[in-house]
Amino acid sequence: MLKHRTTALGFAVIILLFAGLGFFSVGKMREMTGDVDNIYRHPFAVSNAAKNVKINLFAMHRDMHDILLAENKSQVDGIVERIDAHEQIVLQQFNVLFDRFLGDMAIVQRVHRAFVAWKPIRDQIIALARKGDRKAALALIRGRDAAHVDVLDKETQELVDFAAHKAESFHLRAMENERRTLFILSILVMSTIGASLVVAMLVLHDLNATDRANARRAHLIDQNILMCTYDKKGRVLDISNALCRFLGVSKDDILNTHVNFFVNTSDGGQTINEIWKTIKTGARWSGEIKRVLRDGSVKWAASIIVPILSDKADSYEPEGYSNILHDATNKKLSLTDQLTALYNRRRYEEIVDREVKIAQRNKTSLTLAILDVDYFKKYNDFYGHPNGDSVLRTIGGILKKNMKRPTDYAFRIGGEEFAILFSGLSCEESAAFLEALRASVEATQIAHEKSDVSPYVTISIGACLSTGDRTFNKELLYINADKALYRAKETRNTVVLT
Ligand code: GH3
Ligand code: MG
Ligand code: MG
Repeated sequence: MLKHRTTALGFAVIILLFAGLGFFSVGKMREMTGDVDNIYRHPFAVSNAAKNVKINLFAMHRDMHDILLAENKSQVDGIVERIDAHEQIVLQQFNVLFDRFLGDMAIVQRVHRAFVAWKPIRDQIIALARKGDRKAALALIRGRDAAHVDVLDKETQELVDFAAHKAESFHLRAMENERRTLFILSILVMSTIGASLVVAMLVLHDLNATDRANARRAHLIDQNILMCTYDKKGRVLDISNALCRFLGVSKDDILNTHVNFFVNTSDGGQTINEIWKTIKTGARWSGEIKRVLRDGSVKWAASIIVPILSDKADSYEPEGYSNILHDATNKKLSLTDQLTALYNRRRYEEIVDREVKIAQRNKTSLTLAILDVDYFKKYNDFYGHPNGDSVLRTIGGILKKNMKRPTDYAFRIGGEEFAILFSGLSCEESAAFLEALRASVEATQIAHEKSDVSPYVTISIGACLSTGDRTFNKELLYINADKALYRAKETRNTVVLT
């Protein structure tokens, strides 16, 4: 979280630097354009206007001399007209000067006043020339007129000089501005590059750290979780090392093969069909699976198969399946009997406890039967212990086959002693059911030469039926069933129900 905040802060700094760079550049560009504009709008305009004033002053002064040379009145009028035209131009230039001059306006006003003050002198000379008094006119031209023009020229030159000086200072300012701008711009560019590099490194570092964390997590899962993924046809796409170890196979052996979700197909494919029927609709399947490994050992696992649904909105068909398994071998073995695969004594204690409570709550009947093989010691002695084991397995199979309802349980509670527990049957129904069990063991016709009651292996059954309205507990139930068995043993190959 902190890392993300640092990275976000880094990006914010870069964005700010870029914005600063942009705004600063635009601002400076406008400032520099303003400087250039100022040079053109003020000093150059003022300098040109002042120079124009000077040119026209001299033209007017020369015209004054020309008046003396005029031979008739019309020539004089023509020259006076020229002088007036020059005067108009000068006055226009003064308008420019008043408008644009950036220095002390008093100077412009002084020059303007001097120019205006020249007119009476000119008028006097023109009047003398019209009268034909050339001598007096010439004296005036060389005297007061020349002196006035001289002063005017000097003062106008002052304006020109000022403008030139101003242009120079604008230029210097522009140069200084450019230098400063370049300096600040290079600092901003360097900072932006630096900040970008730092942020890039931070991001890379973050990504690397995330990659490493993901790799560690993936390794942890691979080594410890029994996991597998399949394509939509059930072919193995990926399998964890933990699951390979559990199954005792190598990854290469199993990848791209069909493993039927590791389910045993010895049930005629019933479980695998049920799995496909469930998961194809997009629902998950969970259940317990038994797997016999290559070395003959048996493994149990709780298995959950989860369909991987497609992202496409119009497709409901799973793209593949994930399978997560949990090793339940130890738990299973601790609750089942290895020889017969029936529940063991420990499981019997748990279940009988629960069933007694349920029967009391629901006020239903509960029957506990204890089954014991007749003359089994003799059987072992005569046929050998391994054959004895085989008999126990067969009887276990018969019991299991007859446990039809979810609340029917069969256990191997001792060496050659079994127990069955079922609820909801009346006394007659229970007796019939147990009698059928007894008969089906005998009907299996396992030869038992040493039995005194039958040529085949038989069992005796002692049972106790408790009805919901009777106060009872699991100990009482067992004692009564055991007592009944004791009575059954008096004749053997029989059922006694109390
Ligand atoms: P009864 O008809 O009175 O029940 O006689 P029985 O010989 O069956 O009774 P007993 O309790 O004297 O003998 C039980 C025999 O069961 C003793 C033992 O050898 C045998 N047994 C116990 N557990 C196993 C086992 O796991 N495998 C085999 N093969 N035999 C076992
Ligand atoms: Mg016994
Ligand atoms: Mg016995």
